[in-house]
Amino acid sequence: MKIAILSDIHSNLEALNAVVEALAIEPLSETYCLGDIVGYNANPHEVIEMIQKMNAVCVAGNHDHAAVGLTSTDYFNPVAKEAAQWTAQQLSETEKDWIKSFPYIQKIGNITLVHATPYEPKEWGYILTAHDAKKAFEVLETDLCFIGHSHLPFVFQEGKGFVFQEEGVFELKEGERYIVNAGSVGQPRDRNPNASFVLFDPQKKTVDFKRVPYDFKKTQSKILAAGLPSFLAERLAIGR
Ligand code: ZN
Repeated sequence: MKIAILSDIHSNLEALNAVVEALAIEPLSETYCLGDIVGYNANPHEVIEMIQKMNAVCVAGNHDHAAVGLTSTDYFNPVAKEAAQWTAQQLSETEKDWIKSFPYIQKIGNITLVHATPYEPKEWGYILTAHDAKKAFEVLETDLCFIGHSHLPFVFQEGKGFVFQEEGVFELKEGERYIVNAGSVGQPRDRNPNASFVLFDPQKKTVDFKRVPYDFKKTQSKILAAGLPSFLAERLAIGR
């Protein structure tokens, strides 16, 4: 059985549907969702409904918290801020309560799930340097940690460096520790516009980085129809 790890879906229904379709052929035991379910794109309700239907184990992202008033948007760029305000207006109280129930960080067996960093999960910092990764390993109590937030899929082995992995299988070595970024379902930023997610096989000890194309033109037209900033539509075509 495998575990599906989805992150940074950002209200992109077409991308999530494509991922769900790809997952349909996989023997899945669980689905983990690493936060930023909402924000940026135009289908918050539908995406929330789908993640609830999947019974995913969720941790909170900064855009989730921005949409429910649990974090300030002062540090957001103007486009992100506008999208967060739009999302906040869309969400029902029940949807907001569901988002508010997510923990910042969650440990399941030998796996840690967190959106940003395990050392300051409420500060929304990024793991972008070897120094950041070292700080993360200092506090991690598990061999494996899945993160999101930067929208860049990678593996970082403790004591080694970043391996940016657009697609394909990465084999985990016994006794080694890893931080894995699952990339982004709904707004990839590694110049590949295809939705990104990860399949973890606990028996084989592999992390499989998957990419699936989706109808981003449909997502773009919904963004424009909703009156969200056009940059949010443009970036989907180029994966930036
Ligand atoms: Zn995000």
